[in-house]
Amino acid sequence: MDAADMGADLKEVLLTEEQILGRLQELAEQIWADYAGKDVLLVGVLKGAVMVMADLMRALPGSVPMDWMAVSSYGSGTKSSGVVRILKDLDTDIGGRHVLIVEDIIDSGLTLSWIRANLESRHPASVEICTLLRKPEVAKVDIDVRYVGFDIPNEFVVGYGLDYDERYRNLRCVGTLAPAVYA
Ligand code: 5GP
Ligand code: MG
Ligand code: MG
Repeated sequence: MDAADMGADLKEVLLTEEQILGRLQELAEQIWADYAGKDVLLVGVLKGAVMVMADLMRALPGSVPMDWMAVSSYGSGTKSSGVVRILKDLDTDIGGRHVLIVEDIIDSGLTLSWIRANLESRHPASVEICTLLRKPEVAKVDIDVRYVGFDIPNEFVVGYGLDYDERYRNLRCVGTLAPAVYA
């Protein structure tokens, strides 16, 4: 769906589909150069990263494998707690592999810190992170994020894989919701 299909639910478009795809193309070129001569495994975190994964991997000028993890992060409402449970684990043994985690958004960074530590305990050759969006809260946590699409303000966003109560994931752009949606 497009911004126009959102009707009154949409407050503001933060990033258009064109901006997102353009930035993913740049990140793909950087990633391809950084991993030259190395096999990289893309690890997506369900479900929010589906669109980022699809467009990022197609922007790469060569074949790469992907795998997926699903986690649940216990927390109230729209805030995560850092207490994480694996709902779906990787199919791949990542021992000795170069892993690039593909994420939609980093807010507190607690979920991703946990995932990274969990993957590192499996003795991969390396673990790096690529996220489309990053919020300012993450500055409070010590987490090294190699590839960032956009730094955005501390607002709740939907679209391009990101949901509010499982809705709006199929919105092509990234935007904020009108207050009436939460009411
Ligand atoms: P963190 O542990 O970094 O605080 O939380 C990360 C997860 O919280 C993301 O993967 C996403 O599922 C959710 N999240 C954080 N900020 C937003 C946001 O602005 N919009 C949406 N839809 N989800 C968010
Ligand atoms: Mg996510
Ligand atoms: Mg969500």
